[in-house]
Amino acid sequence: MKVLVPIKRVIDYNVKIRVKADNSGVELTNVKMAMNPFDEIAVEQALRLKESGGANEVVVVSIGPSQNQETIRTGLAMGADRGIHIEASHDIEPLAVAKLLKEVVGRENPGLVFVGKQAIDDDCNQTGQMLAALLGWAQGTFVSGVEINDDKATVIREVDGGLEHLEISMPAVVSVDLRLNEPRYASLPNIMKAKKKPVDSMTVEELGVEVAPRLTVIKVEEPEARSAGVKVSNASELVNKLKNEAKVI
Ligand code: AMP
Repeated sequence: MKVLVPIKRVIDYNVKIRVKADNSGVELTNVKMAMNPFDEIAVEQALRLKESGGANEVVVVSIGPSQNQETIRTGLAMGADRGIHIEASHDIEPLAVAKLLKEVVGRENPGLVFVGKQAIDDDCNQTGQMLAALLGWAQGTFVSGVEINDDKATVIREVDGGLEHLEISMPAVVSVDLRLNEPRYASLPNIMKAKKKPVDSMTVEELGVEVAPRLTVIKVEEPEARSAGVKVSNASELVNKLKNEAKVI
């Protein structure tokens, strides 16, 4: 079975995000970029599946500008076998990403797609669900455990007050959550090996998908600055402040 893992290039999670002076978006110039952290977890899970004999090929796919090739190389250095780069000059919204991925699924015929539960830049949490709907495939979302048995997958989802165990039929789209695994670091020899692994490039036009934005960003603003906290010396002072200053009790 082949596993497809879509990986997005986003601002590195350690970077302090700055809003552009004209409020049109966030500053990307000279900002460190990296693979979306949930996608690292998805790559790791695909690699573990391959290592345990449940898959024979892991293909990573990234949609975006030429710099996304670096993200693909990161996936290959972790251990993926092959990469696909879909060249796109601007930010592609989740529906268009899902439509492009559907075309890739049509060409590659994977048995499973592992996506991140959300991209940490747009926080949309939509692509996996839209892809499953477009393909008419089963989906397991926000999974913190997954086991594949031939034509069925059992996924564990963290829900309020417990864990939900679901059996879904294959092929499926599975979106991964934080506690599924701890992604590996790429070793130096694997980084070198990754340079020789094949990466196919294609354009959104070749895939025949309409990717024009449907959303208009009106304004992006910094969150309001929070005022500093105070330390109280005992419980009665705390209760007094909550009652008379914060007026919440
Ligand atoms: P989102 O719906 O934008 O929160 O993204 C959810 C997941 O969809 C991500 O974690 C990726 O696995 C995948 N994805 C979204 N955008 C892209 C992209 N431009 N290239 C590759 N994968 C993407």
